[in-house]
Parts: sequence; structure tokens; C-alpha cells
Amino acid sequence: MGKIRVLIAKPGLDGHDRGALVIAQALRDHGMEVIYTGLRQSPIQIAQAAIQEDVDVIGLSSLSGAHRTLFPKVIEALKERNAGDIPVVAGGVIPSEDIPYLIEKGINKIFTSGSSTDVLANYIKQLISPEAINVAPPKKIAHIGIAVQSIDQAISFYTDMLGLKLEGVEAVESEGVKVAFLKIGESRFELLEPLHESSTIQKFLNKKGEGIHHIALEVDNIEDRLTQYKQAGVKLINEEANTGAQSSQIAFIHPKVANGVLLELCQHDEGSES
Ligand code: ZN
Repeated sequence: MGKIRVLIAKPGLDGHDRGALVIAQALRDHGMEVIYTGLRQSPIQIAQAAIQEDVDVIGLSSLSGAHRTLFPKVIEALKERNAGDIPVVAGGVIPSEDIPYLIEKGINKIFTSGSSTDVLANYIKQLISPEAINVAPPKKIAHIGIAVQSIDQAISFYTDMLGLKLEGVEAVESEGVKVAFLKIGESRFELLEPLHESSTIQKFLNKKGEGIHHIALEVDNIEDRLTQYKQAGVKLINEEANTGAQSSQIAFIHPKVANGVLLELCQHDEGSES
């Protein structure tokens, strides 16, 4: 297929387009053709430009606070011209409270000031050819990992007082830990005991003491996901999946990515987890 064509537009009256120009350049660096409408465009002008330029996607930017009225008007103007199938993404200074409203009005996705241009570019590529990139949401919280000094010591509270069923205890040599799984509904607790001094769990215990160590998310296609994350510049602890407990494939995302929470991606083969 040819280059992805993107219209970048700034509806409304604000007179700053540095941000829009930065985004336009970033998308060009990702191999897209970018048409910039310039400042102070009306929703109708934007819809007309998108149709004339035959773009694949429209990116709206607003710093003026008028996004709640102007963004939905762009969607309406597109629909009135039978161009409601052109996806619209938006960014700028947009309070997170306004995001659900704008999504409901037909904006595909809002990128807040914390989003990187790489994430935006990858999202657009995914919109245009969904088979290329697939970030389906994780299916569930697979488990919550809790670092403990001793599984034997810790286990009785979970089994006797919470009444949870101990599914099994196994050593995961790749992570230097012994783990115990306790099923709780669709999810599990994973108690983690260090196997040796250089185990990351031992280091965690030395630094912080016992407590929540990570949250694991059940995903499909872990390798594809890791590849996408690498492309998007998401900081990973493991760039390739390792074999984890219960014959799962696992990889950790750097805690800086998720607000200080260590996230584990894990994929269980069909049927291995009952
Ligand atoms: Zn885990």
C-alpha cells in the first residue's frame, strides 16, 4: 500500500502551532504524508480539506479549550459529507475528564501531553492496517506477585484464613525464585520466595521488605506484543519472553512505564491453565 496520508488540523482560535508542526514532522519521519491546514480552521474547512486531500486519518490539535465543541463539529461535518469513515484522532491540552465525552462523540483516540509521537504514529498505522499491529487489551490480571521471605511461613494465612486453594509450588530457575500459586476467582496470588542471594526477589526483599512485587497481565501473542512495544519505544526489562511458572511465557515491562508498578506480561498455552 502507499503512504498513509494524514491531515493535521487546528480548529479554533488559538494561535500556536508549534505542537502541531512537531507532530507533523514526527509522522513524516514515520513515512507518512502529512498535510497541515494551518491555524484557525473551521470544522467545515477541516472536513472539506480531508475529503479533497483524500486522507486516511485526521489529527486534530487544540490548546484553546474549545475541543469539547469543535472536535464533535468536525465529526458532524464529515458525516454530513458522507466521510464519517475517516478516523479522527486528537491531541493537545485536553483534560482526561473530557476524554470519555470526546470518544463518545466519535473521536477514535485522544493523545494527552504524556503520549509520545511514536505511540501516535504506531496507533495511526494500526488504524489503517489493523493486521500490522495488534494491541488487544490484556485478558485479565493473571496474578499478583507477592515477595515473601518464606513460602512455608506465608502460606497458612492464604489457605487457612482466606481459604484459597494452593495450586502448586514450583521453582522457576530463570527468575531465581520458588513460586506458590493460590487461585482467587479468575486470578491468582503468586508468592515469590528467593532461591538464592542474587535472585531479584532477594534484592527486592533487601530493599523494600515483603510486599507486592508485580502484577501479571494475561495476553495473547506475547512475542508480537513485545515487538510492538520495542518499536513504540516502551522500556522493557525482557525484550524476549522467558519460560515462567506453569509453562507460561513471561516478560517484564520496566516499572517506569507503568507509574512505578512492575508489570509482567504472561501467556499461558490454551488449556494449560485451568
Ligand atoms: Zn509473576
